[in-house]
Amino acid sequence: MGLASMPAFAQEPTAADSILLKDYRPVSIFNVPVTNIEKAKYPVIDMHTHDYVRSKEAVDSVVAIMDDCGVEQAHIMQCNWISDPYDVVAERYAAYPDRFKLWFCLDYTDFDSPDWTERAIAQVEKYHEMGAVGIGEMVDKGLGDVYALPVEGKGIRLNDPKLVPILKRCGELGLLINIHIAEPIWMYRPIDRFNDGLMNGAEWQVDTTVEGCIGYDALMDMFEEALYACPDTKIVACHLLNMSHDYPRLSTIMDRHPNLYLDISARFGESSVTPRATKAFIEKYQDRIVYGTDNTPTRKMFRHTFRLLETADEHIYSGGSYHWSYYGWDLSDEVLEKIYRTNALKLLSGE
Ligand SMILES: [Zn+2]
Repeated sequence: MGLASMPAFAQEPTAADSILLKDYRPVSIFNVPVTNIEKAKYPVIDMHTHDYVRSKEAVDSVVAIMDDCGVEQAHIMQCNWISDPYDVVAERYAAYPDRFKLWFCLDYTDFDSPDWTERAIAQVEKYHEMGAVGIGEMVDKGLGDVYALPVEGKGIRLNDPKLVPILKRCGELGLLINIHIAEPIWMYRPIDRFNDGLMNGAEWQVDTTVEGCIGYDALMDMFEEALYACPDTKIVACHLLNMSHDYPRLSTIMDRHPNLYLDISARFGESSVTPRATKAFIEKYQDRIVYGTDNTPTRKMFRHTFRLLETADEHIYSGGSYHWSYYGWDLSDEVLEKIYRTNALKLLSGE
């Protein structure tokens, strides 16, 4: 073989040629501070969780976990892929009226009938009397409010002319809306070697070629129309509106809509990769952001989130599906107390 046909730097294959990103589980070698937070610095209101336990006995064990971690109250989003009907969920948590608050879903049965809005408003008023906090979690990743119960709201969006009067009525009654709009941006992008959130993006990719599915930007436009249509209704976009990759854009939307609030649930991986940008954003909007988890309640889960909010710990591997490590946000005491608790109390009291 002539010299010209040989690779310039021929190398034997190494582990780097065969380890797949999905299997990569590095262990930190850094001798840097590791802060174990048993209990949050202030009492916590978890504004976004679900009915994960499904029996009264299991509810007791969740209360024990909450007590150990300093979580005074948790908000159960009845509306999602696992829940029982509202009445069943309400009965399950009834022993702890101050520890658990419930949110409900709209019933889209016979949505096409002319009196649907009227019936839905009656439903809203009924749940308001029963002590519900609001409607949630509504979900539109592109196909409409598909996780609603008892029937899915495929193609039904928050700015639908049939929904706007309901949103307005919620505002009059002091009921809140919690909605999940879109997903992290990489789930709408090609799953290739350039995809910045590849490992999670691949797992949860949204296929916008499916009939009736709209994309990320169209979802945001739709959502802003709904925000404009009911300026007196407080709407909490969960998961930081799935826009923690672009705080300048998210700031613009926040500035346009004083009725828009955010919860931080289930996007710790997405926001802890840029801790300084996240901290700056949270400080700027410190009166309109609330704590939430969205995850199965365990001591480990709560404490992991407290570590991110409260400390400047670095290079934290969480066991999540991203290929990066997390960094603490190091929030000030003043901001922490607002995010953990005070902002939620204001929202709940209609302030
Ligand atoms: Zn959720």
